[in-house]
Amino acid sequence: MGKPKILILGAGYGGMMTTVRLTKELHAEDAEITLVNKHNYHYQTTWLHEAAAGTIHHDRTRMLIKNVINTNRVHFVQDSVRSIDRANKKVILKNGELTYDYLVIGLGFESNTFGIKGLEENAFAIRSVNTARKIREHIEYKFASYNNDPDAKDSDLTIVVGGAGLSGIEFLGELVNRIPELCKEYDIPAEKVKIINVEGLPMILPPFARDLAEYAQKYLESKGVIFKLGTFIKEATEDGVMVQKKDSEVMETIEAGTIVWTGGVKASHIPADSGFATNRGKIEVNPDLRAKEDDHVFAVGDVAVIFPKEGERPYPPTAQIAVQEAFYIAKNLKHLLKGEATETFVYKSQGTVASLGDKVGIGTVLDKKLTGKPAAFMKKVIDDKYLMELGGVGLVLKKGKFHFL
Ligand code: FAD
Ligand code: NAD
Repeated sequence: MGKPKILILGAGYGGMMTTVRLTKELHAEDAEITLVNKHNYHYQTTWLHEAAAGTIHHDRTRMLIKNVINTNRVHFVQDSVRSIDRANKKVILKNGELTYDYLVIGLGFESNTFGIKGLEENAFAIRSVNTARKIREHIEYKFASYNNDPDAKDSDLTIVVGGAGLSGIEFLGELVNRIPELCKEYDIPAEKVKIINVEGLPMILPPFARDLAEYAQKYLESKGVIFKLGTFIKEATEDGVMVQKKDSEVMETIEAGTIVWTGGVKASHIPADSGFATNRGKIEVNPDLRAKEDDHVFAVGDVAVIFPKEGERPYPPTAQIAVQEAFYIAKNLKHLLKGEATETFVYKSQGTVASLGDKVGIGTVLDKKLTGKPAAFMKKVIDDKYLMELGGVGLVLKKGKFHFL
């Protein structure tokens, strides 16, 4: 009999960390490990708002997978997963198929447009290196065209950001630093540019402490961001968005050259389409992170739904929880191969920190509230901690954030 086959789908936070941890937990003779990902690189989703605004180059956010995993121990396949055939323990790829004894699904998230008319076609989402690069180039193109194109309008310089969750607010934090640079580069008076955030709820950052959210709002307003709160995006067109205030009949049009949708995320469609039992598209898991209905399948990161012991709402999808799950999944795979009992996943929240550009932030770490520079510093520490866990000092030196304010 050959070695048991462990197949990991997706090289995001969950998939990469599971792979790296497996090579530490298992000996070479214990299992054959294969990682599948659609690109040959791993990217840090948590830095994509920076690449999208253009405050960092997108290459800073990514690294070649072969430079991080132990290629003597892990077989890497660059391909796109199409579906999972659980009955035959098989994964169908664009260019072939792979069998498994144990499967780890880490296919991550997709943008959720909630069926809002025109959003798919006319708005950008911060989802991947490719989408971030497109946003940066689109904004820059609008600025470059303004003084050259005879048909250019002032509204070409308006950027609408839909949604004031953490992604929207962090992106705004980068934009307010980038726009002055673009104005200088393309000879555009700063007052011509408008950055408008549209948020359906009456406040920004709904899950955050109010004083921290207010700090973020005041800071961004001081840099020129206009907030339209209690206002929903109802439609997007080539020329802008149609918005409506709660309880109002009146629809307002905001003309804009760029629309970036940060209004929500959902899990990869592949598990639900492959017949897994899901809760809002996410795989329901047992306490040891195996799929409820399949002992041979684990779910990690944004494709998994986990409820706190006492709580009706699941944990929010974050890189933080994906990484912690990965550690447990690697340990539990080792237990299964040895015929031992698996361990129950316990999430230890280390807090949440949001950047408002490079030098300012807000957050709560170990129940302590942080604002301004200390929060920005903490965000960089968290980023570097992940790199350390993934690839050790070498990776921190190559990709880490050392420009500590
Ligand atoms: P992902 O990171 O989404 O990785 C999935 C991987 O699977 C990708 O490599 C993708 O290319 C690959 N893949 C997808 N489909 C296929 C397919 N069909 N075939 C092959 N490969 C495929 N969380 C935090 O904790 N802290 C933060 O500061 C933070 N900042 C964020 C900032 C932004 C702008 C955004 C959008 C999110 C942020 N998050 C943050 C949330 C966090 O990024 C996600 O929760 C996290 O990326 C989930 O990790 P994952 O491994 O499940 O999936
Ligand atoms: P989100 O769901 O947290 O926020 C989306 C926001 O869009 C909400 O405030 C919602 O009210 C608003 N919205 C939805 N429909 C709207 C409409 N039609 N018009 C106007 N507003 C609308 O999504 P996100 O910010 O992309 O975050 C996704 C996940 O990633 C979350 O779990 C978050 O915690 C995580 N994340 C974490 C960090 C961090 O830790 N620093 C950063 C970014 C994202």
